Amino acid sequence: MEYIPYFKRQAKNLLKDFETRYYNEDEKVYEYTPKFFDISSILMYFDYPDDKPDFKFTLMNAQHLIAKMVGYENWDCLIHTTETEQALAEFLLHRFKSAEDIQYWEDTISFAFADAIREHGMEVLNAETLLDYARWHYELGDRKEIVHLPMDRISVLTGKLKQEALSQFDDEHNPAGSLRLDSYVFCTHCKKAFDFKQSKVIKDSESNLTMVVCKNHPKCKGTYLDFKVLTPTVLYGEARTMELEKGARMFSRDPNSQVHCIHCDQQYNYNEAKAVIDPDDGEVYIHCKNYPKCDGDLLDMMPIKITDNSTEK
Ligand SMILES: [Zn+2]
Ligand SMILES: [Zn+2]
Repeated sequence: MEYIPYFKRQAKNLLKDFETRYYNEDEKVYEYTPKFFDISSILMYFDYPDDKPDFKFTLMNAQHLIAKMVGYENWDCLIHTTETEQALAEFLLHRFKSAEDIQYWEDTISFAFADAIREHGMEVLNAETLLDYARWHYELGDRKEIVHLPMDRISVLTGKLKQEALSQFDDEHNPAGSLRLDSYVFCTHCKKAFDFKQSKVIKDSESNLTMVVCKNHPKCKGTYLDFKVLTPTVLYGEARTMELEKGARMFSRDPNSQVHCIHCDQQYNYNEAKAVIDPDDGEVYIHCKNYPKCDGDLLDMMPIKITDNSTEK
């Protein structure tokens, strides 16, 4: 079935993340530098004793854990489920990056279906109901379907209305996502690259839902969810703060310290630095506050030594 290769790939990614494990001598703990999942929180959530020095984690373990993450007893159960159940598992795996995500979904459904469960028991939570709910909850499903509606139900927005729909991708509204108003994107459906601003915005005249779609709509059925961002994305808000803290930890620096960028020869507070997603590997890198004018990175930002008799400690 079409979903199984995806599950296998995720298990491999989970294993790759595990393999970044190292012993932090200072903190006396095992840590990770994962790329795909917050592996440490996930192992803790499912009670894996990864703080033991001889803790082993194989591809089989990773597959087992992938199954557990989406609510199955084991891998064998997961790959022998129905097509709808697998579609749900795939949908969720796209969104589960950490233990918090898993917990969030569990809390969300038990809250959303509390009355129905009390009245009819757990069987109301069949895969079809959950998949519909998940699509609605994460706000993708209904909208995504718009591209497949007959053309006489669809209108293409222009001018201010189009602008409004696209502005949800500006820095302010989309602090964590990688798509921005000024992104240059590649549509994985029609394999064409274009400025994100050239995308079309279509509206379903019945439901009034709008969707940002490929510039080649209706020939191409791609939506913004199928776009790969080709330009570096500067992060804002919480996502940025988190990355700056991560960078500071990696270099054992005080995130509040003054730094000197040896590239542009400027001094500023480390907190003013930029966090940028590199489109080539999807990783986040810390750059000089004057990025993209200055190409200095974390290594070029030298901490400025504050002498002992200064007021701050
Ligand atoms: Zn396209
Ligand atoms: Zn600089």
